[in-house]
Amino acid sequence: MARYIGPKCRLCRAERAKLFLKGQRCLSAHCPMNNPSESGLPGKDPRARSKKPTDYGTMLREKQKLKRLYGMLEKQFFLTFETASKMAGKTGENLIKLLECRLDNIVFRMHYAASRAQASQLVNHGHVFVNGKRVDIPSYRVKVGDSISLSPKAQKMVLVKENLAELSKNGTVPWITLDIDAMKGSFNAIPQRSEVKELENINEQLVVELYSR
Ligand code: SF4
Repeated sequence: MARYIGPKCRLCRAERAKLFLKGQRCLSAHCPMNNPSESGLPGKDPRARSKKPTDYGTMLREKQKLKRLYGMLEKQFFLTFETASKMAGKTGENLIKLLECRLDNIVFRMHYAASRAQASQLVNHGHVFVNGKRVDIPSYRVKVGDSISLSPKAQKMVLVKENLAELSKNGTVPWITLDIDAMKGSFNAIPQRSEVKELENINEQLVVELYSR
């Protein structure tokens, strides 16, 4: 499947928001978004002061932020939205739940990978098992109670070991448990929208409004 292969930090600059696309670098002082002169944040970019975004533009930017955060392309993102709109409850919250249940996202949250893009690659290359069965589809929807493990080859990868070392420093999210020695994790619950920290600056309701126009 086609995917964006350009510079990831450029996407953050375009959205003027941190999208956490480069693993630990995003949490470090090296993130360009920490430097106002590089980030393109309002107040430093003359274009930001002179252009007032239209309502459509604002909705579009929210959609782009959410889509890029989860490393998705338009068609797949829209199909996920359509699924969310057919579920009971609020479409925006359903959309977040579906995005959080993606296999690549959970592999990332288990710290097997430093970013969702890296997680997607691990899945694509057949290194990820769900309940003991190999699954190579990054968009696969993980169910509550599923266990996620890695192939013997992936367990020996330096990259994976380095990523897991970060887990002991930063911990994992409350809805996931991981046995680092066994390299086996469990998806225990679908998170509430308020629990997903990266979404603090995203208004998914605007995404719903955009697609409902
Ligand atoms: Fe780059 Fe990550 Fe910072 Fe975005 S959040 S600008 S991807 S380092």
